[in-house]
Amino acid sequence: MAIVLDGKKLSLESEKDFSKRVEKIKARNFSTPILATILVGSDPASATYVKMKGNACKRVGMDSLKIELDEATTTSELIKKIEELNANKDVHGILLQHPVPVHIDERSCFDAIDINKDVDGVTSLGFGRMSMQERAYGSCTPYGIMRLLKEYKIPLEGKSAVIVGRSPILGKPMAMMLLNENATVTICHSRTTNLPEIVSTADILVGAVGIPKFIKSDWIKDNAVVVDAGYHPEKCGDIDLEGIISRSYAYTPVPGGVGPMTINTLIMQTLESCEAQLGLD
Ligand code: NAP
Repeated sequence: MAIVLDGKKLSLESEKDFSKRVEKIKARNFSTPILATILVGSDPASATYVKMKGNACKRVGMDSLKIELDEATTTSELIKKIEELNANKDVHGILLQHPVPVHIDERSCFDAIDINKDVDGVTSLGFGRMSMQERAYGSCTPYGIMRLLKEYKIPLEGKSAVIVGRSPILGKPMAMMLLNENATVTICHSRTTNLPEIVSTADILVGAVGIPKFIKSDWIKDNAVVVDAGYHPEKCGDIDLEGIISRSYAYTPVPGGVGPMTINTLIMQTLESCEAQLGLD
């Protein structure tokens, strides 16, 4: 029987621990961890994600500071807002909901976030430090996946890991995190020519493409660890999971696998940032 990498279960268990730590901070330091969320424009999916993150804060006793900016906000106006939050001692983490409207220079805005408050792990500096195995908050989806793999004691060292997708928030940091755990990593993308063949070499496969059921089950070898980062309205991911579940060593269900770990990791890192500011880490 394949191991179910149950992100929902792990995130609920972790929340119990986070709640206790938040209580301790409130009792000892008269302080509350605060995550600032910035939503630019009115994209309904982004608004839903921001709401879910605010709800997750509430569940563990943390606060969120919601900042909603007009669609027409410029890059410099957004950077100014981020700098205000950087300077605000009450704010421990800053989340800029991705994607921002196309006229905004998203990379410059991400990189304006203070490294100590980059709890979503989106800055270039944070990526560099994480890659060099220095202390940094990890990009939440790949780091959530790493936490899940660790929880279920999935061996990584010496394994062939194939990641389909190379986005700055998912595929690239995922590759560095797996490399840092001594996996042998291959990154695939839209110009990769022999994708099925490369996927068939994976002991550990991460699907992060953004196309429903794009990775076919018959490309995947028996006993692979199958991680599906995708989530689509039709309640499926980027991998055609049905055909592989029974042949896999372990897999992430969709929903209930990677998704809950992303928000959980954001909450965890906001809490860690607050603890670091208070000298509790
Ligand atoms: P993205 O920025 O759109 O990146 C998609 C990646 O897939 C790109 O690197 C792209 O290659 C590659 N790709 C596209 N078509 C391909 C093809 N035909 N063959 C091989 N590679 C191809 O997406 P993302 O933000 O990384 O997200 C990826 C998936 O993860 C999505 O399904 C998204 O919904 C999901 N996601 C989930 C969470 C969560 O919390 N669960 C969070 C973030 C994202 P190029 O670089 O060459 O264009």
